Amino acid sequence: MADRDGKIWMDGELIDWRDAKVHVLTHTLHYGCGAFEGVRAYNTVNGTAIFRLQEHTDRLFNSAKILRMQLPFSKEQVNEAQKQVVKANKLESCYIRPLTWIGSQKLGVSPKGNTIHLMVAAWAWGAYLGEEGLKNGIRVKTSSYTRHHVNITMTQAKAVSNYSNSILANMEALDDGYDEALLLDASGFVSEGAGENIFVVKDGKIYTPDLSAGALNGITRNTVFHIAQDLGVEIIQKRITRDEIYIADEAFFTGTAAEVTPIRELDRVQIGIGRRGPVTEKIQSAFFDIVNGRNPKYAHWLAKV
Ligand code: PMP
Repeated sequence: MADRDGKIWMDGELIDWRDAKVHVLTHTLHYGCGAFEGVRAYNTVNGTAIFRLQEHTDRLFNSAKILRMQLPFSKEQVNEAQKQVVKANKLESCYIRPLTWIGSQKLGVSPKGNTIHLMVAAWAWGAYLGEEGLKNGIRVKTSSYTRHHVNITMTQAKAVSNYSNSILANMEALDDGYDEALLLDASGFVSEGAGENIFVVKDGKIYTPDLSAGALNGITRNTVFHIAQDLGVEIIQKRITRDEIYIADEAFFTGTAAEVTPIRELDRVQIGIGRRGPVTEKIQSAFFDIVNGRNPKYAHWLAKV
């Protein structure tokens, strides 16, 4: 990915993509203390716009706060940087990646005295779990890896270091022939996917794990809360067991990259009709209406670039 034309915003300025480099003694590269965001811009009916930009920027600042990193930029500057990157790379719809990290002044676990950096890159990225997955659902495996305990790594931070857990779970699932992993928390309750929140539908109601199961407070998860309310479908946050998913009528993942992706199978057990169910389809369709600017109620969630 490093060798391509384009611009990356790094520490306050747009620079050539190929020049956006860090030193090998970068603190974050060694100890994993850093935070990032995953944001999407859509080619809406009113032009290119970033979906829930402010909420993503707020979460980036919260992640940094949890990790005791003082970002040297304001939220307004970070919002503006994301718009600039989309514009500078002439992208109509894309994925945007802000990342903050600790510099290379010194090593040792304590980062004190090191500078804090921020970059924003953007590139075209289609359906994360595949177009086919969006339409017909994906096959998921309960991971042998446990999701982070809430008092080991901080689960409300979108921290760089949290993703070694996601990578292990995802690699295991792919090696075993599945599309994605589902992680359970340290007590054995359903937490989330390697990069997605999970929802199940049962008898007309929607259930999702509450955040004490160590799941990230997903912005798409929150969007689904609004959609369900509009559709008059109740959403309940509670502890969920893996076998509740086996016997659910429908299940789906949500995430900025994954959008709303139906799950058709967990651990080789077919869920419901074994393809996208009617409630998932309604939520998915309402989601795509919102992100593409076709629902005026949520126009304020779309920041024009
Ligand atoms: N959980 C994890 C572990 C994730 O990486 C993501 C993607 N950011 C999500 C949940 C979904 O969050 P969001 O909807 O804000 O993208």
